Amino acid sequence: MTPKYLVCPSCKTLYEFVASIKSCPRCSAPLFTIYEDLEQVLKKVIVNARERAIQGLGVWSFSELLPTKFIGKSLGEGWTPTIRLEKFANVLGVDILIKNESRNPSGTFIDRGTSIDVQVAYENSFSKIVSASLGDYAISLSVYAKRYEMSVTHYIPRFVEPWKLYMLTLLGDTIVEVEDYPSAVRKASRMSAKNQHYLSIPCSPTVIDGYRTIVFELIQTLQKIDWIAVPVGDGVLATAIFKGLNEVKEVLDIDTPRILTVKLSENSEKTLQKSAEPTLTELSGGIVRNILTTILRDSASHISIERSEVFTIAAQLAELEGIIVDPVGVASLAGVKMATELGIVGRGEKTLVIISGSPSKDSYVLYKIIEHGGKEKLLQRITEGRDATYISNTQKEILKILYEAGQCYAYRIWKKLKNLGYNITLQTVHHHLKNLVEKGYVRILGSDGKRLLYTISELGEEYLDKELGT
Ligand SMILES: [Zn+2]
Repeated sequence: MTPKYLVCPSCKTLYEFVASIKSCPRCSAPLFTIYEDLEQVLKKVIVNARERAIQGLGVWSFSELLPTKFIGKSLGEGWTPTIRLEKFANVLGVDILIKNESRNPSGTFIDRGTSIDVQVAYENSFSKIVSASLGDYAISLSVYAKRYEMSVTHYIPRFVEPWKLYMLTLLGDTIVEVEDYPSAVRKASRMSAKNQHYLSIPCSPTVIDGYRTIVFELIQTLQKIDWIAVPVGDGVLATAIFKGLNEVKEVLDIDTPRILTVKLSENSEKTLQKSAEPTLTELSGGIVRNILTTILRDSASHISIERSEVFTIAAQLAELEGIIVDPVGVASLAGVKMATELGIVGRGEKTLVIISGSPSKDSYVLYKIIEHGGKEKLLQRITEGRDATYISNTQKEILKILYEAGQCYAYRIWKKLKNLGYNITLQTVHHHLKNLVEKGYVRILGSDGKRLLYTISELGEEYLDKELGT
């Protein structure tokens, strides 16, 4: 259904709905789309949505509540499972349901938004998309753009984890690395204006409307829960949930749950940054500060947590419930634990926790979860069994070389080892490097076509710190 207006929830200005307006021109807050006959449409859509979901329409089960003319292409996004955490409830003393958003096609809730945004680009006759984002959004956008044979140019901050860049490389779109997120937004906006390409960014009204389909899927549950806990990365998901809840409340006249936003504390953000999502601080130069300080300031409760608590919760979630997700994605659950201890969430209250973030494949992150779950010894026993020389002296030396040089090809490492008196072949150096990559101590940065370029990973640096006291 084509929306009629865009409204700024902060300064209340109304605009005509135009796909090129991404945030409020007056105050730069994110914008909300307003639909005609919302009441009638919402009631009708909610009744038929389940049936449409079975037909494989994904988020398009709610097409009348989305800012497009037609139903777009679905890859099975949305309709993620809602699961009760039985054992966790005993540990925390609160009833917890999770909405497992890691079950979306690219592994995050973001698919709900990019699926809509790509259709909007298509309906406006664009064949090229320019995007400024963090790794997860970029991957999701490329996945959906494929369906429409559109190409994407991604502006991405340099600190994004390598595995995300590898995935983007597989998807075949253009990646431009820049210093930080604000400069990514600046450059992407400039390029889209200059070349008339569609600009796709996470905080746009079209993406927000896609994210809010989470609320529509929960209609039957909303009256039975007291809280929705939302992880705050860039703040857009929390904003979308806020919008969806307000629409439902207004039209159906029901009590809706309160929002609990959970973010990592400033210090934690810095330390997690290397391996996980970028930070609010980083983003706060832009639109994000507006979301948290204007839109959500009075309409939600806010919790800030330390990174160690996130790892501990991730370990418990795996051990108690068999669910493995990225630590950033379970921040919301750690937040509920703290909110309960602080008395914000009352004992006996029911909370629905949105778990986002794909299952972690980063060996550094997995190791940190294991460490916080108190299982390092177990891991050591397994890895020792796999390789008698857990980290051999030669491998230690290779780590030191990589630490000092930043990045190296195998040949240079071999030369340096020779100078240090190691009498080994280049072949052996390759073998050690392969082994170190498998253990997560070394990362492959790229290739010049023939040779691989190596660097030390966070785990490798931590190992050196511990072993050598460097
Ligand atoms: Zn405004």
